[in-house]
Amino acid sequence: MARVPEIAYDCDVLVIGGGIVGLSTAYAITRAAPGTRVTVLEKEPGPARHQTGRNSGVIHSGIYYRPGSLKARYAVRGAAEMVKFCAEYGIPHAVTGKLIVATDRSELPRLHALVQRGRENGIPVRELGGSQIAEYEPEVRGLAAIHVGTTGICDFVAVARQLAHGSGAEIRYGTRVVRVDRRPERGVAVLTAAGDVVRGRMLVNCAGLYSDEIARLTGDDPDVRIVPFRGEYYELARPELVRGLVYPVPDPAFPFLGVHLTRGIDGGVHVGPNAVPALAREGYGWG
Ligand SMILES: Cc1cc2nc3c(=O)[nH]c(=O)nc-3n(C[C@H](O)[C@H](O)[C@H](O)COP(=O)(O)OP(=O)(O)OC[C@H]3O[C@@H](n4cnc5c(N)ncnc54)[C@H](O)[C@@H]3O)c2cc1C
Repeated sequence: MARVPEIAYDCDVLVIGGGIVGLSTAYAITRAAPGTRVTVLEKEPGPARHQTGRNSGVIHSGIYYRPGSLKARYAVRGAAEMVKFCAEYGIPHAVTGKLIVATDRSELPRLHALVQRGRENGIPVRELGGSQIAEYEPEVRGLAAIHVGTTGICDFVAVARQLAHGSGAEIRYGTRVVRVDRRPERGVAVLTAAGDVVRGRMLVNCAGLYSDEIARLTGDDPDVRIVPFRGEYYELARPELVRGLVYPVPDPAFPFLGVHLTRGIDGGVHVGPNAVPALAREGYGWG
């Protein structure tokens, strides 16, 4: 009987993607199982070059999610852990709280439903009448609002860098995965654009906007298709008009939170994002 040769694995866990999901996956694995060899393959020259480094910078409280759902539980716990992580490593952050403001009577039932959700999720929520909004945001007008106490802001690029550093994983930047060979009982071998082969006992797909393509490369059919949308932001010329974060009541017709005002950790205030169908998955301009 022929002896099956031992496979020389380069690592135990291969992670594709160096955004916040891939890097926190690497961090969590090496914390939970010290000694596990984790390798992260990221096609860009550094971490957080896509969604993670281009978002609103908000630590969400979890108020929008169905009580008891995994999303609600993870968001509430994750927000607290993110604040702790930032404090521990000196990463710029602030627990600013946020306002969700109703400007039309038709939004009031949905605002009230959010209060219920927030409380069921264990989030501190204060209901405000129109005249009380000025206690938090003197320049904002509305019929009613809620103040969510645990929402915050942080520098997600710095978070990603710290996760990369703290994970102890081998991070290979500039390494695009172009093919995946997955065999039962034999783990995975991935081919990079440079022609290198990296072998791991298992693979975690954290490729963000390309995660469906990576899933297909492994032979899976994810049954979803990523349709790219781009969110554009404007910078408020008079940032002194807004103290913290101001959101509309989400419109259930759209899968977005709505255009919001966000005071970032740099002190500037962004207005956005809108949602523009994009020609490319990682296309950030009109060109
Ligand atoms: C406009 C906008 C605003 C948002 N605002 C917030 C917010 O305020 N707060 C919040 O919590 N969330 C926000 N989000 C959501 C949040 O940004 C994302 O959920 C999160 O960044 C996803 O992280 P990720 O690691 O999955 O993806 P990404 O950050 O996109 O990382 C995926 C990585 O995979 C790499 N990759 C892809 N294909 C390959 C390959 N073949 N080989 C190697 N590497 C590959 C990419 O280069 C990329 O670095 C926002 C999202 C958008 C779009």
